[in-house]
Amino acid sequence: MNEEPTRRDVLGHAARGAALLGMGGLIGYLIKHGSVEGAWRINVDQCVNSRLGALGVDVCDKCATTCVLALSAVRAVNDHAACGRCYICPAYFDVNSAINEEGLPSAKLCPRDAIERFEIGWVDPDDPANNYYEYVIDEVKCNGCGRCVMACKEPAGLSSIRLEVRHDLCLDCNRCSIAQVCPDDAYIREPTT
Ligand code: SF4
Ligand code: SF4
Ligand code: SF4
Repeated sequence: MNEEPTRRDVLGHAARGAALLGMGGLIGYLIKHGSVEGAWRINVDQCVNSRLGALGVDVCDKCATTCVLALSAVRAVNDHAACGRCYICPAYFDVNSAINEEGLPSAKLCPRDAIERFEIGWVDPDDPANNYYEYVIDEVKCNGCGRCVMACKEPAGLSSIRLEVRHDLCLDCNRCSIAQVCPDDAYIREPTT
């Protein structure tokens, strides 16, 4: 006997299909994101490279070396509004290098030459300390090694440079390899807003 499906049958099939589809979507979501919603973030008050008071200690480069991506999803970011635009920026120059004929440190700090220095406005050659410069981080070169972050920290700098997870690059791994090795528990998962 070939009976026509009732309205209840059709609705029942549709509901079961929707439930299965929903479950498939949920499983896919959990594979990518784990059971915790949100995104990975660096707590800059906890990370040794940016934590105030942590001076004269080794730079932590685990954000650069541990990410599963060939070039880490972590980058240094300069908050230009907070930057002192210093003539001799300790994050740009290796202040321990020899002084050159211009009266500036002869070497740069960044091992990847990822920071650019631009003059702001007219530069007075007779008053170099009162000239101002913009320091721009090239995110294509930067791997988040943290050296400039440590050098920009007070009292040498104004802590305008910090490490950030670039969410457009991060794969949002369920078990972030950086979070597993971070010595300061500074790599955290937080709800997205
Ligand atoms: S984090 Fe490292 S690679 Fe990136 S700009 Fe700073 S010193 Fe250069
Ligand atoms: S979640 Fe994955 S891709 Fe993102 S920072 Fe961690 S290891 Fe790198
Ligand atoms: S691994 Fe942790 S302490 Fe090291 S640079 Fe990354 S966030 Fe900072």
